[in-house]
Amino acid sequence: MTISRFCPQCKKYARLNISNGQVLSCPHCQNQWGTMESKENVFERCPICTCRQFYIDKDFNQVLGLAVIAVGIVLVPKTYGLSLPVVAFIDWMLYRKVANMAVCYRCGSEFRGFATPNQLKPFMHPIGLKYDRYR
Ligand SMILES: [Zn+2]
Ligand SMILES: [Zn+2]
Repeated sequence: MTISRFCPQCKKYARLNISNGQVLSCPHCQNQWGTMESKENVFERCPICTCRQFYIDKDFNQVLGLAVIAVGIVLVPKTYGLSLPVVAFIDWMLYRKVANMAVCYRCGSEFRGFATPNQLKPFMHPIGLKYDRYR
C-alpha cells in the first residue's frame, strides 16, 4: 500500500509505503503531512487533509499510452492504416489491466493498493471544483 502526492513544501512527487500509526512525512524534505491512523478506515477521512471525499482513477501510465498511439500513427503508411485499430486495442488492453487507485479530492493524494470502497465514483467535476481552491 502506498500514498503518493506532490509535497506542498518542496513540490516534489513522493511515494510512501504505509503502515498503521505511521507519521507521514515527505522523504525529500521531511515535511510532516499527517498520521496514518488505520489503513482500514483510510477512506473515512484522508490521513493528510481530513477530507472525506475520494474518487476512483485508473493508475494508467498516460505516457506509455501515448507512446503506443504514436507508434501506431508512424506505422500508418506501412500498414495502410491497419496499425491504428491494433494500437487502439493495445491501449484498451493496457487500460483494462491497470489497477484502480483512489485519489483525495482535496489534497490530491493517490492511494494505491488499498481496498477501495464500492461507493467511490470516478472523478466528478462539480466536486472537483469545490476543492480546487485547496490545491
Ligand atoms: Zn517535501
Ligand atoms: Zn486528502
